[in-house]
Amino acid sequence: MRAYVYDTARQIDLAASGNRLDSDGVKLFSTTIAKNIADRAIQVLGGYGYVGEYVVERLWRDAKLLEIGGGTLEGHQKNITRDLKTDHEAIER
Ligand SMILES: Cc1cc2nc3c(=O)[nH]c(=O)nc-3n(C[C@H](O)[C@H](O)[C@H](O)COP(=O)(O)OP(=O)(O)OC[C@H]3O[C@@H](n4cnc5c(N)ncnc54)[C@H](O)[C@@H]3O)c2cc1C
Repeated sequence: MRAYVYDTARQIDLAASGNRLDSDGVKLFSTTIAKNIADRAIQVLGGYGYVGEYVVERLWRDAKLLEIGGGTLEGHQKNITRDLKTDHEAIER
């Protein structure tokens, strides 16, 4: 996940458009992994992981927000599908 984030950030040309495939890809991949990691942290702590006195329940909610805010998972999937289709059509031509 970290390698994908860094590699995408390194390769993105801020002066150009059309970099969406990996910017959406990295968000789609990383947000689902982040939520999975936070979920496991709650599980390790059991009931203490779930209650508000400990920080991990907030980490889970923060990770869940990343699946909604800044582009939903479904939005990323739609963008990626559209961009792959456009790329494929360009190769076919
Ligand atoms: C705490 C918090 C902070 C936020 N901060 C900001 C902010 O600072 N700036 C900002 O601009 N926005 C912010 N948002 C808004 C956020 O960007 C939106 O919540 C997000 O874009 C989803 O829109 P929605 O909530 O209206 O869900 P909806 O558009 O109603 O979508 C509901 C669900 O249906 C899915 N869905 C909708 N349409 C389709 C479709 N055509 N195909 C497949 N699935 C679909 C969505 O992916 C989602 O899972 C924030 C949201 C929260 C919860």
